[in-house]
Amino acid sequence: PALKRLDQLLSNLGYCSRKEVRYLLKDKRVTVQGQYANSPALKVAPETVLVDGEVLDTPEGILVMLNKPLGYVCSHDSAEGMRIYDLLPARWESRNPKIVSVGRLDKDTTGLILVTDNTQLVHQLTSPKHHVDKLYEVTVDRPLQPDIIDAFAQGVVLGDGAEQCLPAKVEIISENIANVTLNEGKYHQVRRMFAACGYHVEALHRHQFGPFSLQDLMQGEWQAVTLPC
Ligand code: URA
Repeated sequence: PALKRLDQLLSNLGYCSRKEVRYLLKDKRVTVQGQYANSPALKVAPETVLVDGEVLDTPEGILVMLNKPLGYVCSHDSAEGMRIYDLLPARWESRNPKIVSVGRLDKDTTGLILVTDNTQLVHQLTSPKHHVDKLYEVTVDRPLQPDIIDAFAQGVVLGDGAEQCLPAKVEIISENIANVTLNEGKYHQVRRMFAACGYHVEALHRHQFGPFSLQDLMQGEWQAVTLPC
């Protein structure tokens, strides 16, 4: 296995900057093979390193699903509000490359958002070519009429007629609640599709994204996932 310089390893994984490594060492927070590390230049095998007694994040990459609470933004910019990244370990944003969300959910949408440092994966899962299914539970402001099923199956034409959506599946669950399955991701797509059919979306929650589903993951919680091969 390839040995790496300790300072390079820890800074690439976001634990600290290269310069800050010496403070971690001085504070005896880093061990290598059970011994306190004393030099940033030490050549190490990543799996022998502990920080604060814990094994390092995998250098292979981060992929987690998060149950996004209401009011959080998928932006890195804290000027836009509370950020989903603040619900994850801070060092992941300092990794190289840093973590990003796979697509975005609106501030007032809840549910499943994937976060990764793998830009190729982001492309794979969001590219219109790949048709990844997304399942939303939608609450609207008035009783759902059965003709919406056909309208969505035909492909809704948005607002000014310039954008045609692909066929989508609607399942009416109760008077004001439907499950909708889309395999594309236009800006505010679910809200705009319902608006085009005369409904206002009052609540929007994503249950599934491709092979991943929230199951009993609580709001604000995350868990690591792996792509099925
Ligand atoms: N469609 C929307 O309108 N908003 C979302 O957050 C996701 C899909």
